[in-house]
Amino acid sequence: MTPPLQKPKRKNPILRTRLPVPPPQARSRYALGLLRGAAQGRLELQECRDCGQVQYPPREMCRRCLSDRLDWKPQPEDGELISETLLRHSLELFFRERVPWRTGLVRLRGGVTVVAHIHADVPPPPARVRVRAHLDRAGQAVLVAIPERDTPNMADDKIMREMTCDPKFRKVLVTDGKTAVGQALVKALAKAGADIVWVGNAEPWKNFPGFDEIKSIPQVTLLNLDVTDQRSVREIAGEIAGRVDIVVNNAEVHRTYGISARYGTDAARAEMDVNYFGLLRLAQEFGPALKARGADGVNSAVAWVNLLSIYALANFPPHGTFSASKAAAHSLAQCLRAEMRPTGVRVINVYPGPIDDEWNQLLLPPKIAPGALANAIVNALRQGTEDVYPGDVAQDWLARWRDNPKALEVEASNP
Ligand SMILES: [Zn+2]
Repeated sequence: MTPPLQKPKRKNPILRTRLPVPPPQARSRYALGLLRGAAQGRLELQECRDCGQVQYPPREMCRRCLSDRLDWKPQPEDGELISETLLRHSLELFFRERVPWRTGLVRLRGGVTVVAHIHADVPPPPARVRVRAHLDRAGQAVLVAIPERDTPNMADDKIMREMTCDPKFRKVLVTDGKTAVGQALVKALAKAGADIVWVGNAEPWKNFPGFDEIKSIPQVTLLNLDVTDQRSVREIAGEIAGRVDIVVNNAEVHRTYGISARYGTDAARAEMDVNYFGLLRLAQEFGPALKARGADGVNSAVAWVNLLSIYALANFPPHGTFSASKAAAHSLAQCLRAEMRPTGVRVINVYPGPIDDEWNQLLLPPKIAPGALANAIVNALRQGTEDVYPGDVAQDWLARWRDNPKALEVEASNP
């Protein structure tokens, strides 16, 4: 059984922080297909459209009938560990720093055999296991065999700690605590065992509803952070950037206008200033410190969460300028992800549908509740998923966008 993770002692400031070394990254173009499922926490393998063969490792053609009509399909996760190898030595620096390390072969229920990292709580083979697709610290898809049933402290295993961004004992910044989503996030992160939750508030002279409750949570420290002000972001970064393990950028401005419903650019500018430039300012001031701490022990810097919107994928004309600002943020977040990837810090992009808040009062349900959205974000950190589409509307838009982006554009403009 995995021993429970101990709260880390204060870091010795004289010791040098270990530099992040990414795990091996070489993959064929076909193997990258595993990524899409893994980014959302799903195990997907190639299935042949002509003969039904499921295959692993991924290849250009079906190994049974040589067809090239291969689709990535979700697979049953249960199977049997049939053999294992304990890595005691490795020529790869990443594994050399982490041996001993278990790997093995698992025969999935679907009949195909895969190579997987093995959780410490899995008994020796033969043993029933579940296989999960995870992203490793290099952002590449890997398979992990976990026990058939959950065990105590399972998430504290060193292999899981490498694959996930569990907030337990970590120090988190939530950039805006005055919104319903921000407050739900602070509560969910504190409940998940975060060590410190810094909470940004751009207007400290106002007393927002619910703020007293947030202030009474022991882990919470309020900060006067205004993401539209470079100096404010720099000052707060100077104070805490060297200690933050997870940034949750939930600051957003949401106005409900298209192009013709309002004259002038003030509202659209305010949206861009927070939703797009706010992310850019935060990334410039906090990014370097996070990147430097990507391998800082079991409580290293691990994640950067962006609250985007499903309207980043296709414009929703009644909220047209908001959609445009989120599309800009979505594009910038992809850049941030690429720059963070070599250091092991994961960028998690969250694309909710309409949130049940004041800006969506006029929209008919379904809308996602702030608490449900906060839980989805904490779950994504715990699972280590990279792309999150919480709520029914987001799932529906995603399915339609994958199927036919042009059709989604037409449907979104005729709600
Ligand atoms: Zn085939």
